[in-house]
Amino acid sequence: MRKVRKDPLEKLRTNKLLTHVVFLVATFVLFSGAASALKAFAGTDLWALVGSVFPETITPEMLKDKYEKQTIRVVVVPGHDNQYVGTVFKGRTEAEHTRKIARHLMKYLENDERFTAIVVRDTDTGKYTDTFSNYFTQKENEIKSFMKERRSHVKVLKNEGIIKSTEIIDHNYATSNTAIRLYGVNKWSNENSIDLILHMHFNDYPRRTRSNEGKYSGFALYVPDSQYSNGRASRDVAEVMQKELAQFLPESDLPKEKGGIIEAQELIALGSNASQRSAALLIEYGYIYEAQFVNADTREIMFEELALQTYNALKNYFDKEYNQTSYVTDTTLLPYTFKVTLKKGMQGSRDVLSLQAALHAEGLYPPDGKSLNDCPINGNFGPCVAAAVSMFQEKYKETILTPLNINKASGIVGGRTRAQLNILYGVE
Ligand SMILES: [Zn+2]
Repeated sequence: MRKVRKDPLEKLRTNKLLTHVVFLVATFVLFSGAASALKAFAGTDLWALVGSVFPETITPEMLKDKYEKQTIRVVVVPGHDNQYVGTVFKGRTEAEHTRKIARHLMKYLENDERFTAIVVRDTDTGKYTDTFSNYFTQKENEIKSFMKERRSHVKVLKNEGIIKSTEIIDHNYATSNTAIRLYGVNKWSNENSIDLILHMHFNDYPRRTRSNEGKYSGFALYVPDSQYSNGRASRDVAEVMQKELAQFLPESDLPKEKGGIIEAQELIALGSNASQRSAALLIEYGYIYEAQFVNADTREIMFEELALQTYNALKNYFDKEYNQTSYVTDTTLLPYTFKVTLKKGMQGSRDVLSLQAALHAEGLYPPDGKSLNDCPINGNFGPCVAAAVSMFQEKYKETILTPLNINKASGIVGGRTRAQLNILYGVE
């Protein structure tokens, strides 16, 4: 007897239908979970009504409770690596910058018993640590199927209109090796009870030539899409981080980064396709061509400063008791003893960097009507610094101007101005 063969197309259709049904059921289960989570929040938290589609895997309350009772497990990800170095300016790579900031940040976190910090790349060599390089190679297949599974899952939810596509920022699609590593970090973090992932990056903006500076400056914070399970907690951390960094750094003036905190649906680092359980934050510390990162005498100092600001932000987020006495004492740029004359035209100067910090602490820098984008803390003595020095001389004219019988501020940091600076900000 002849076997009855099914029409192959029919078979395909049946399979497709079956797949679709399975997805719909999965979607329904997931969504009803989300619905009850939403119901639980309704009335107490308006945000939840417009927020997460997925049940939250981490909340601000969970984070703070964990800080009180256990330790916060942080994964520090210095952006890019020795193979894919990220953006480059005059021979300096983003991967190297982020590694150096991470080195300082790890020092702060390791000295603090409230944190358990794990860094993804060795901060001296830039190579992935054994934990992660072994994980990427030994679990490559699992990572790939995790990637595939998350992508198709969210794709269905988008097709069904359950998740809105919100992506408005263009990201360079991570190369597939990079994608595997980033999904790998997410998967590893999910399996290792990580509370917070911090990604560090530097921005870039298309420039006329490779050695030209771009027109934008400042920092930006990227957080996961609020529809994802880690959206609300991540934004909560980001808001404190923004406040902290904005005291010292300009906020990015790139139009699409306006507001300082940007939600990203498609950044793997932030758990795109709902691939992350922990809170996550991606910090763009500034544009790689900004003067403070270009000049050798200010660059390393700035890396430590950025690490301190990042650490202070985390402490302020988690710890009500954390006494960051004031901005003035909580900068690596002060105290500082001023020893030489400082004047207009000086570039990339370590002294000018601390002068700017001191004038900033006095409330004189940036001068009135100017922003930190116009007048950054960058080690260059330009019109902004000259104007602020003049105001400083007016403010302390009894000790600076009057003894010399002059009544006009010079805007130059000479002997008397230095002496006054050292009284206020010098090393004792
Ligand atoms: Zn980057």
